Amino acid sequence: NKAIHTNFIRNKIDNDLEQKLYTSIQTRFPPEPNGYLHIGHAKSICLNFGLAKDYKGQCNLRFDDTNPAKEDVEFIDAIKTDIKWLGFAWDGDIKYSSHYFNQFYEYAIELINKNLAYICFLNADEARTYRGTLKKVGENSPYRNTSILENLELFAKMKAGEFLEGECVLRAKIDMSSPFMCMRDPTLYRIRFDKHHQTGNQWRIYPMYDFAHCISDAIEGVTHSLCTLEFQDNRRLYDWILENINDFNKPNRPHQYEFSRLNLEYTVMSKRKLQKLVEDGLIPGWDDPRMPTLSGLRRRGYTATSIRDFVNRIGISKVDSITDITILEAAVRNDLNIKAPRTMGVIDPIRIIIENYPEGKIETLKAPIHPQNETMGKRDIFFSRELYIDRADFKEIVPNKKFKRLAINKEVRLRSAYVIHATTFDTDFDGNITIVYAIYDPNTLGKNPADGRKVKGVIHFVEASKAFKAEFRLYERLFTLENPGKNDHFEQLFNPQSLITSYGVVEPSMVNSKPEFAYQFEREGYFCRDNQSSDELIFNKTISLHNI
Ligand code: ATP
Ligand code: MG
Ligand code: MG
Repeated sequence: NKAIHTNFIRNKIDNDLEQKLYTSIQTRFPPEPNGYLHIGHAKSICLNFGLAKDYKGQCNLRFDDTNPAKEDVEFIDAIKTDIKWLGFAWDGDIKYSSHYFNQFYEYAIELINKNLAYICFLNADEARTYRGTLKKVGENSPYRNTSILENLELFAKMKAGEFLEGECVLRAKIDMSSPFMCMRDPTLYRIRFDKHHQTGNQWRIYPMYDFAHCISDAIEGVTHSLCTLEFQDNRRLYDWILENINDFNKPNRPHQYEFSRLNLEYTVMSKRKLQKLVEDGLIPGWDDPRMPTLSGLRRRGYTATSIRDFVNRIGISKVDSITDITILEAAVRNDLNIKAPRTMGVIDPIRIIIENYPEGKIETLKAPIHPQNETMGKRDIFFSRELYIDRADFKEIVPNKKFKRLAINKEVRLRSAYVIHATTFDTDFDGNITIVYAIYDPNTLGKNPADGRKVKGVIHFVEASKAFKAEFRLYERLFTLENPGKNDHFEQLFNPQSLITSYGVVEPSMVNSKPEFAYQFEREGYFCRDNQSSDELIFNKTISLHNI
């Protein structure tokens, strides 16, 4: 029952269906398998699959794999996993642009036969000069008037591998004085000798994105081809190609619509930049919990629901902007507040000895798994003479009125257990507190002190003998600036404090915690067990309890 916000794309679809241009709609999600998906891709996934679902249409998954140099099957598998994890399923078989290589080739020949494409031997520098600039119209290539027959022969030779990489290209013959640079005889095909992950060494020529994308859309029967704003000018080329191919020049052919890409504060969003962080060794991998990749967010404890909610909340528009990262953080916090089981973990432990508690005795106490949801039941926690509390929860003297934690002669409640007050403490040689001594009030389990005195603070603890050691990975923002991407050396803005590791203890129940499934360590934040560790207890901090 979530509200559907209308937008210009929905309006267009409504109109197209009303005009009976299409009987049903078809969209596609077309990742290039050259990296892992990031949360920007999630926007496109939710949009494409979401529209297909709402309009009872179809959405394909198509790997846009026309550049053999940068692609790999490793990425194909990861992309499939991420889409499914986000909660979407593609219609029909997975598509690959590379499956259409023969068709692209035939359509290129059709353009040559129509005198709309030619083989050009200008090198890259020369081609740039001939192309002109926004202020200066281009000049026709000297190869523009080669005969159709000769172009057909040359193209066949290109295909047969008789030219070197970069020696020539196939270009569309459009208009060298167009105000749109992409219309100044754009390249349609180039020579590449790399082995392709799907077609091996079968091809020596590969279509450019602009040529392959519109034709793939048309072959698959896509109706609304949604892409990001930087392709706005290329829409002219998209239309030109389809209008000049007989099979596709019909009113119900695909049309392209552009929306603004997602940019997020304190991170970068292009695969190239994310790759650089990994290559430079600033980040160990694409799925590091600090990365804005779906695999990173998942490993950090973000839920698919929270990412879909976030995308829904920011909406679709044509205005470029940088989205406030606290919107994403609020989305996951809201979801986890409802779902996450509560538990106790001490991130920076100090020992506390309850002097009036019998030695050797261990009590089993019941604590709610979720204080607002009784149906989640209760868990066993333990209490004895020796416990751990967090270093930040004890001060020798009460530092200010707001301090509601433990201090000498000050009472606090240990969560789901007794009221205690501290009496004294030991320090090490450097003055660091090592042990706190305390007295507990045995008549305060599950009730207030009988004499009516008020105990304001509650702190968390873990019983020492049954505690398990755990590593806590505390994550902060990846970059120190809101918009690192606009800096040429964005990697220098990397936040060296983005990961802080701490060693502490958790309740024994956490031995059975599942990776990627978030818990609330009470008073500390949401954490999930790392998915790369086996038996060790490593917890990744998803998000703090409050926006700080
Ligand atoms: P990047 O620049 O990160 O490499 P890309 O656009 O080259 O992204 P593709 O694999 O081609 O990556 O993207 C697949 C689809 O996801 C495309 O339709 C693209 O428009 C969309 N997409 C990519 N990044 C974003 C983003 N930040 N916001 C919204 N959609 C995006
Ligand atoms: Mg792309
Ligand atoms: Mg890219």
